[in-house]
Amino acid sequence: MDNKVRVRFAPSPTGPLHIGGVRTALYNYLFAHKHGGDFILRIEDTDQKRFVEGAEDYINEALAWLGISPDEGVREGGAFAPYKQSERMSMYKQYADQLIESGHAYYAFDTPEELDEMRQKLEAARMSAKYDATSRMSMKNSLSLSADEVQRRIDNGDPYVVRIKLPRQEEVRFHDEVRGWVVVHTNQMDDKVLLKQDGLPTYHLANVVDDHIMEISHVIRGEEWLPSAPLHVLLYRYLGWEDTMPKFAHLSLLLKPNGKGKLSKRDGDAGGFPVFPLEWKDPKTGDISSGYRESGYLPEAVNNMLALLGWHPSDNQELFALEELVQAFSLEKVSKSGAKFDVDKARWFNHKYLQERSSEDIASLIASDIESRGWNPEATYLHQVIDMVKEKVNFAKDIPNVANFFFEEPKSYDEKVVRKKWKNDVPGLISELGDALAQVEDFNASSIQSAFEAFAASKEKSTGSIMQPMRLAVSGQAGGPPIFEMLELLGKDTVVRRLKTASEVIPSGE
Ligand code: GLU
Repeated sequence: MDNKVRVRFAPSPTGPLHIGGVRTALYNYLFAHKHGGDFILRIEDTDQKRFVEGAEDYINEALAWLGISPDEGVREGGAFAPYKQSERMSMYKQYADQLIESGHAYYAFDTPEELDEMRQKLEAARMSAKYDATSRMSMKNSLSLSADEVQRRIDNGDPYVVRIKLPRQEEVRFHDEVRGWVVVHTNQMDDKVLLKQDGLPTYHLANVVDDHIMEISHVIRGEEWLPSAPLHVLLYRYLGWEDTMPKFAHLSLLLKPNGKGKLSKRDGDAGGFPVFPLEWKDPKTGDISSGYRESGYLPEAVNNMLALLGWHPSDNQELFALEELVQAFSLEKVSKSGAKFDVDKARWFNHKYLQERSSEDIASLIASDIESRGWNPEATYLHQVIDMVKEKVNFAKDIPNVANFFFEEPKSYDEKVVRKKWKNDVPGLISELGDALAQVEDFNASSIQSAFEAFAASKEKSTGSIMQPMRLAVSGQAGGPPIFEMLELLGKDTVVRRLKTASEVIPSGE
């Protein structure tokens, strides 16, 4: 690549960042790092009406949690500061003026009522209700009114907007790195507002001006912005910036699990999975939306899952650390079609990454839960328990539930196992098994196993018929870690005590 790669993620702080937006940020990050370029975070807050308290902090926190932090941004600073459009407001008007002077934009004075009237008339005539080359001459603007009248209105302080002047019949073409050539005719477009009545720019003007000034080389963004791209291409052309126009890459949507339409918060609520990276509390309604972080997902699992939703590595590798994603990522392998969200896959990724975390790490993730349950295990013991059970869970937070018997006496016994296996002679056998295991000198998995097998043989019982009652008696549960290792970790005293207790308190299944 000839010029320095500079990409930006440009969210508007209008609410919590959707997980699809996070994927856009991730792809920008990967692309920048792959090419030794810069990843910029620009806050696009020109639309003050849609501003939501806390949304900008949320974006920063989400990116930090995922470890995809920007090189330049509001917090990070950088040579192109400020990175928040509301702090750049004075920069945009000159470009609107330049476009008016070169004949590519014009003042429009129409009131909301007049615009409505136009829309109704055109709709009644079954024409598309657009402010464009066909309709503009019947409206009140600097193309239809005399120069004197325009000046009079401006001097008078009449409100106006600045609109782009699109040619009637022209093909706009550009190459999209994901989709190939995109061709749109200007007769399908309209004369979009560039500068609003309050003198502030719209998204289109601010976005193009900033991308140019910030020397952005590639615009990687969601598919929902594809319809705006031809307008942006024309703005680059009319502003004289076509030579350095960024390359475009429009990413396909993240789809609902059934593939029908865009993944929404409602799908997440219905399917029991988050669609936001972090929990979000709506500042107005107080409604809480769940987040990946609070639901127990590890950031590396979320990155890996998102990377594969829409990008396909050349082989079938599925597990990629962030650095490996950087190495493997390319826009050519980004898919044109939408990617279906798959919650089972998300959990699978989390499971895989949980196995790679050290037991110390996992212990710190569940420390407060362990403490609030009133457990106070020795660190080494806790780590051994974690190593023994983590294979059974997808989330660290599930460990205290599946491993509770390592920290406290069973509070209840799995009823199904009681019904099926706790036959009449079982309580007696379990009590005697307690006596037998009490004799085991060196209480390790293999000596426990030998003692257990010898005991079963002496009673002419199959090991299978006592194994599950034994597990039930010491853990209360139907399943769990390999039994003899589990007994070793629990220790002789605990095991013997629990076998005795169970033999007394569990009512016989028949
Ligand atoms: N502010 C736009 C958004 O909220 C940015 C679109 C773009 O990347 O150009 O997504």
